[in-house]
Amino acid sequence: MPKKKHIVIVGAGPGGLCAGMLLSQRGFKVTLFDKNPEVGGRNRPIRLNDHVFDTGPTFLLMKHVLDEMFELCGKRSSDYLEFFKLDPMYRLVFDDQSVDVYSDRDKMRAELQRAFPEGSAGFDRYLEQEGKRFRKLYPCIKRNYSSLSAFFSLELIKALPYLALNHSVFSNLGRYFKAEKMRLIFSFQSKYLGMSPWQCPALFTMLSYLEHEYGIYHVKGGLNRIAAAMAQVITEQGGTLHTHSPVQSLIIDNKIAKGVRLQDGTEIAADEVIINADFAYAMTHLVKPDELKQHSPERLKKMEYSCSTFMLYLALDKRYDLPHHTIVFADDYKTNISNIFHNKALSDDFSFYVQNACVTDSSLAPEGQSSLYVLVPMPNNISGVNWDEQCAIMREKVLDMLAKRFDMADLRSHISAEKIITPQDWESNENVFLGATFSLSHKFSQLLYWRPHNQFQELGHCYLVGGGTHPGSGLPTIYESARISADLICQKHGVSFATPDRGKWL
Ligand SMILES: Cc1cc2nc3c(=O)[nH]c(=O)nc-3n(C[C@H](O)[C@H](O)[C@H](O)COP(=O)(O)OP(=O)(O)OC[C@H]3O[C@@H](n4cnc5c(N)ncnc54)[C@H](O)[C@@H]3O)c2cc1C
Repeated sequence: MPKKKHIVIVGAGPGGLCAGMLLSQRGFKVTLFDKNPEVGGRNRPIRLNDHVFDTGPTFLLMKHVLDEMFELCGKRSSDYLEFFKLDPMYRLVFDDQSVDVYSDRDKMRAELQRAFPEGSAGFDRYLEQEGKRFRKLYPCIKRNYSSLSAFFSLELIKALPYLALNHSVFSNLGRYFKAEKMRLIFSFQSKYLGMSPWQCPALFTMLSYLEHEYGIYHVKGGLNRIAAAMAQVITEQGGTLHTHSPVQSLIIDNKIAKGVRLQDGTEIAADEVIINADFAYAMTHLVKPDELKQHSPERLKKMEYSCSTFMLYLALDKRYDLPHHTIVFADDYKTNISNIFHNKALSDDFSFYVQNACVTDSSLAPEGQSSLYVLVPMPNNISGVNWDEQCAIMREKVLDMLAKRFDMADLRSHISAEKIITPQDWESNENVFLGATFSLSHKFSQLLYWRPHNQFQELGHCYLVGGGTHPGSGLPTIYESARISADLICQKHGVSFATPDRGKWL
């Protein structure tokens, strides 16, 4: 490149960091601005005394996608990060039984034989069929859908029979498993997208398949270390990161993004602008309301969004013997799901997820102590719930529930510090539209070509990365969004780039 093109990235979450890492390696001048004091976005750490927590992501799936992003920069992820493959991957707790879920096939078969009269026969059929589906669909997921001509591909045509358009994840699993609880073991992962298993498109059955095929990883120090490692690579490659630097608006001239204006009034010119801030937040706060047609505030309100979460991070001066990951199902799971997604109401009988990662990683809490991360799925802020009133009430309910479902009657007396994030906090403090923590819903009409495009269709010189664009929410897909946008920018400027060799693992 004769003169380095300047790429400005709004937000240093996983999407912005990964794009910054790839583009700085490919010779662009890269500058990231994030409003927070630390990089990582929802993937940054929370520190309470000597306890460390991940704010959001705790399950690293498809680790090889992360590895590829480092390889594309000529680096090895293992030089920056220490990984732990978890087995068992997690424990599922129902009203009357609990099941440990293993990535080791023999252990998983034995566990299903132990827990269910129908045994493990369906498991082998599930692995075979869902493996086929995944291998057909993944090549479509990693493609760019920024134009109709890019949409129609041989890969997509071959994948069409595997989309199972008239099925949800839950109904699809009926092909393999009879017992409702067995189906839940392989469908609750829809919650990773903030969706109900009864509504989530069947193609996302691949989420549980991915766990069984490739495993779930933890990173020493928490998954937040991935964000820190990406920031380090950007700096090593000559890129610049500005924290404490909220962007106030995009500078737009004649439908072309020319740069950004910071909240302190500084204007930064750019050849290309990448938006990593939550998509619907960015379109309603960083762009004037009359600037957009397809994504005007009125139209954004009509789109469908994921659920939200109530988060409780507990620094405990006692070591509790809970597994690394535990998912507890409400006694009446279906009603709880219905309250979250349809009635937009709070439940007394709720499902929740607890991470006690210090049993694997001693760096997260002082010896003999625990750092407990509790996530309770909640309706997003369309609910109109007043979280100023509900926050303290919900805290007590969550603590009562932990004491009831686990051997933790003494929990309250061991809390040395704590932090709460409510759905309202996600919206007000983390700039997440409607507090929908997993972004736009992944219903079929908001996927692929119908999701906001990586090369944003409404503004020139503007690209999207993160959970709100294609392919969608979740770390591996967010890294893929960064790779797709980085590749598009390279193609535009005639910069050559390497493509990952998928044959290795697909
Ligand atoms: C509670 C929770 C649990 C999750 N668990 C998992 C999991 O286990 N595994 C998984 O793969 N995924 C998980 N996810 C989903 C997803 O991986 C994360 O949400 C991820 O952090 C999203 O990345 P992102 O790049 O899209 O956005 P973000 O992480 O939100 O990054 C956006 C960045 O933009 C910045 N920003 C916003 N507005 C401005 C502005 N005006 N100026 C400057 N900067 C701005 C923000 O500060 C932030 O740093 C989870 C999400 C949540 C919330």
